[in-house]
Amino acid sequence: MTALVYRRILLKLSGEALMGEGTHGIDPDVLERFAHEVQALVEAGSQVALVIGGGNIFRGAGLAARGMERVTGDHMGMLATVMNALAMQDALERLGLAAPVMSALQIDQVCEGYGRRRAIKHLECGRVVIFAGGTGNPLFTTDSAASLRAIEVGADVLIKATKVDGVYSADPVTDPTATFYPRLSYDQVLQQDLRVMDTTAIVLCRDHAMPLRVMNINETGALLRLIRGEDVGSLVVS
Ligand code: UDP
Repeated sequence: MTALVYRRILLKLSGEALMGEGTHGIDPDVLERFAHEVQALVEAGSQVALVIGGGNIFRGAGLAARGMERVTGDHMGMLATVMNALAMQDALERLGLAAPVMSALQIDQVCEGYGRRRAIKHLECGRVVIFAGGTGNPLFTTDSAASLRAIEVGADVLIKATKVDGVYSADPVTDPTATFYPRLSYDQVLQQDLRVMDTTAIVLCRDHAMPLRVMNINETGALLRLIRGEDVGSLVVS
C-alpha cells in the first residue's frame, strides 16, 4: 500500500455537486460516483469525514430575501443537509462501507447526534463519518461547518471539492483571463476576495493552521492521487 500524505481527511461537498446536470435535487448516478471515489480513499487506508451542503435543496438566504424569517430559512437549510447526508450514507452503505451520519441538530430517530469523541472513534474504526446539519446554528454555512469539524477531529487536510480545478484569480468559467493559483495563503484569499470559502471558514483554517485543498470533484481518481501526495488542485496555507 502506498504511504499516504493525508491520513485523515475532511471532504466538503456542496449540495450543488450532487445535482449533476440537473437544477435541483440529487442525481443518483453522481451520488454513486462520489461514493466510489470515497470507497477508493478508504481502501487506500484513509480516514474520511464528509460535510455535505444543502444548496441543491434549500438555502436559508433564498427565501429570506423574499420575506421569510432568516433563522427559519436556515433551519430548513440545515435540514436539507441532513437529507443529502442520508442519501450519501445510503450510497456508501450499498458499497459495503459503514457510514454513520452525525447531525449537529438532534434528530434521534434519523441519525446520531454529533459528538467529537465518537466521531474520532468512528474514523479510527474505518467508518466514513458524514457530518450533517452544518454547525447547528443559523447564519453559518456548511463551509464553516467543514472548517470547524476538520479542526475538531484533527484532520490532516480540509478538501473543498468544487466544479473547477482549484483557485483562480476570477471565475474561469466566465473569465478566460483568470489565472490559476497552485499555492496561496489564507490572507491572499481574504484580501483578494477569492471566494474559495466564506470568510469565517477561511479565518478558522488560518487561525488553526488547517491546510486547505481546493480541487475538481469531477476529475475521477483525483482525490486518491491527492491523498497519495500528488499536487492536485490548489493548496491554501499560511
Ligand atoms: N446552514 C445554516 N447553518 C450552518 C450550515 C448551513 O444555517 O451551519 C443553512 C443555510 O441556510 C445554508 C443551508 O443550510 O444556506 C445550506 O448550506 P450551504 O449553503 O452551506 O450549502 P452548499 O452551498 O454547500 O450546498
